[in-house]
Amino acid sequence: MTDPDRYRRQQTSFSDERRAQTFVADLGGECAPLASASLKAAAAAAGIARVASDYHGSGGRGRHWLLGNHDALVETVNADVEYDYLDPGFLADDLPAAIDGRHNPWLVVHANDPAAACAALEQLGGLPVPVLLALAAPGGAVVERRPSPASALERLGRAARHGLVAPASAELAIAAAGAAISEIMLAGTSVAEDPAEPRTVLFYSLHRRRRIDLPREATWDDLAGELGEAPPRASFAGRRINQVGAGALGNWTSIGAALDGGVTMRVIDGDPQVEPHNLNRQVLLVHGVGRPKAPVLARELRALDPSGAYEACARYVERPDDLAPLDGVDALIMAPDNNAARLVGADAAWRAGAPYAAGGTGVAGGQVVVQQPGRACFRCITGLGDEPAPATEDAGNSPCALAADESIVASNMVVAGLLVSELREALAGRRAQNLRFFGDGGRGNRLARMTSDPECPHRADAGVREATCSRSPVRRGSPPVRRGSPPVRRGSPPVRRGSPPVRRGSPDPADEPAGWHGQETVPQQGGTVPQQEATVPQQEGTVPQQEATVPQQEATVPQQEATVPQQGG
Ligand SMILES: [Zn+2]
Repeated sequence: MTDPDRYRRQQTSFSDERRAQTFVADLGGECAPLASASLKAAAAAAGIARVASDYHGSGGRGRHWLLGNHDALVETVNADVEYDYLDPGFLADDLPAAIDGRHNPWLVVHANDPAAACAALEQLGGLPVPVLLALAAPGGAVVERRPSPASALERLGRAARHGLVAPASAELAIAAAGAAISEIMLAGTSVAEDPAEPRTVLFYSLHRRRRIDLPREATWDDLAGELGEAPPRASFAGRRINQVGAGALGNWTSIGAALDGGVTMRVIDGDPQVEPHNLNRQVLLVHGVGRPKAPVLARELRALDPSGAYEACARYVERPDDLAPLDGVDALIMAPDNNAARLVGADAAWRAGAPYAAGGTGVAGGQVVVQQPGRACFRCITGLGDEPAPATEDAGNSPCALAADESIVASNMVVAGLLVSELREALAGRRAQNLRFFGDGGRGNRLARMTSDPECPHRADAGVREATCSRSPVRRGSPPVRRGSPPVRRGSPPVRRGSPPVRRGSPDPADEPAGWHGQETVPQQGGTVPQQEATVPQQEGTVPQQEATVPQQEATVPQQEATVPQQGG
């Protein structure tokens, strides 16, 4: 019996009642093995009552459990969760029995083999269960929700013209699986959201400048054709990466990088022990309860990537020396739970001239910000500064403190997947995108794009200048008000609930509407998205409380006033 404390930090988003009533069948995973394994690992971590599948992974000596047999995988991650074997030829008989009257049943159909997906859906036409069509492919990922197998079959097109679509690299598989699990956990829980409506849960294409421009009229074959094509991508193999954070986000970012094989990584995290309530999202730490996080994660990564080299640094990042040397490091991944560490990392990566990818998540969403040489710095992208929070504010008085640290596995997977993917772009010398994910609201694609290249006076100085723009004259009128941001003190462990802002700079050229850009593609601009950032506590921290923390623009920076996009509603 799993420690019930495991589920403590997901109660408002995925209650025990909903958890017990949730069922997921994963179909067609044989042609998307990592997406299928990631989905099952996430479902088990979150405590979804029963998981069933027609694909069960592959066992064998020496395989890490994440890459092995799926029955054993689910058992490893969470012994509470039942795993059922489905016979692909008898789904119509097997599935109702497996669902066993649960009120929140879902089918996830990996569509990399469209003929097999159609064959499964044809058997299930009449079953009143929503379907998530998922395609994680070399060129991106799409997840669509359909109200029934018949509707999903119609979407696929009964005679899918496309042949097999290759599986995605690890991080895109993780992002697609995370988006599917997010929907399973959260669909219908927010107002004005009808789970019976078809919708795009996630569309992310490396072939599009803004990544998220969903082609409105595209057939599934169109999407499969686009995403099936792989653009040239940078590999993490042979690279040296420093990663700050061994929590939920850091678990999934490091999996995404490590599965390239041959990675050299330092994992830096000061948390003294893995807690039972971490295990609803920190899947690689399941064997480490009671032990320090960084060494536990490094050990699992060594098992996952035996050709790589993984070193643990068990300390918090409060000043540059804590980061471990960045000389010769190819990139810095930032997945901590506080902004002070993010700023330290941004400055250090700037000095070193290395790409820097920072992520953060909250209850149902999160964001990715990439700072890369020659482009805007982290502070100019986020508006984050060094101002201490008002002295009167303290964690004990914050209403957010009561539910602090709530987080779910799904948002961390999506954000981690996007972070690793965008970092690959930076490593290839292309412009990375800064993206946000909203798991519980909006219409259309649940991804939105942040301004990626605002004005930054020192953009050319990466590798030369001491720090990012903290001391530049980009000061704005009234001081920022931080809600739910307790003060960060030197010498104490970094506090959670940091809330970095999004600065709304002027749009860069990629913000111009593209040919296929439609209303549906940027749902968050409509103002209907719940402002989760402003109303819920942050766990990993970087999801910004926009209104609260965006510094006010001064009259001397007038061009930005008129062009502030209303992201976040
Ligand atoms: Zn700057």
